[in-house]
Amino acid sequence: MRLGGKVVAVTGAGNGIGRQVVLRLLARGARVALVDLNGDWLQQTRALAADHADRISVHIVDVTDVAAVNALPAAVIAEHGQVDGLINVAGVIHRFVPVSALERGEIERVVQVNFWGTVNMCLAFLPELRQRPQAGLVNVASLAGLLPFAGQTIYSATKGAVKQFSEGLYQELADTDVAVTTVFPGNISTDLSRNSGVAMIDPGNRKVPATTPEHTARRIVGGMEKGKFRVVVGRDANLLDRLVRLSPRWTT
Ligand code: ADP
Repeated sequence: MRLGGKVVAVTGAGNGIGRQVVLRLLARGARVALVDLNGDWLQQTRALAADHADRISVHIVDVTDVAAVNALPAAVIAEHGQVDGLINVAGVIHRFVPVSALERGEIERVVQVNFWGTVNMCLAFLPELRQRPQAGLVNVASLAGLLPFAGQTIYSATKGAVKQFSEGLYQELADTDVAVTTVFPGNISTDLSRNSGVAMIDPGNRKVPATTPEHTARRIVGGMEKGKFRVVVGRDANLLDRLVRLSPRWTT
């Protein structure tokens, strides 16, 4: 999918990976609808992208709010005239503790945002994307969706669910003009991982590949441009190679 002139909605646009995805899409010539529940953070992203203010719209939406999500495609089309792409980055983790130490409400929130948020957005946008001659959908899962992290069991489960949902959509939409890509970031130092405790961000932790929001964003946007099936992002080439060999369809 050529991004010049295309309109792409990005969730989680207020911080971390999502913010870098926005900046990357703008650099590639796309128009971007920034979606996040945190209005202050959205304004920070907008300020960083001030050079491209005419190609940005801002939408304060909680992806778990079905009514608000269902109203989004029309809002994006009202701003930009069309919508060609959706990138689902919004996500949350929980406290870095065994699952039995989590409150039920904490578990439900992670399931709601990571799994239902992705499903809500896809259901809302797919009818529009299917109308376009060339469309792209990217869902950000995690290597945790393949190799669960101790202390992040519910998070890992939701990312496994995102993987299966996204790859199921790929199968369903294989005969359409909507390319579906699933991205598996490795160990990233963002607010999300910093808030979770040291294990995920310790540079000596080689259990999962380390990468950055900027690098991940380049791979996410590249995955959309090239219509890749899967993108795995990480810096530890040896470990990635081992993971990739587990599944011959993986793209590194
Ligand atoms: P990462 O970039 O590693 O995915 P961050 O915590 O840096 O993690 O960014 C996640 C982004 O997702 C934040 O901007 C946050 O506000 C956003 N987000 C979290 N929950 C929701 C939600 N329910 N709806 C919309 N955006 C959300």
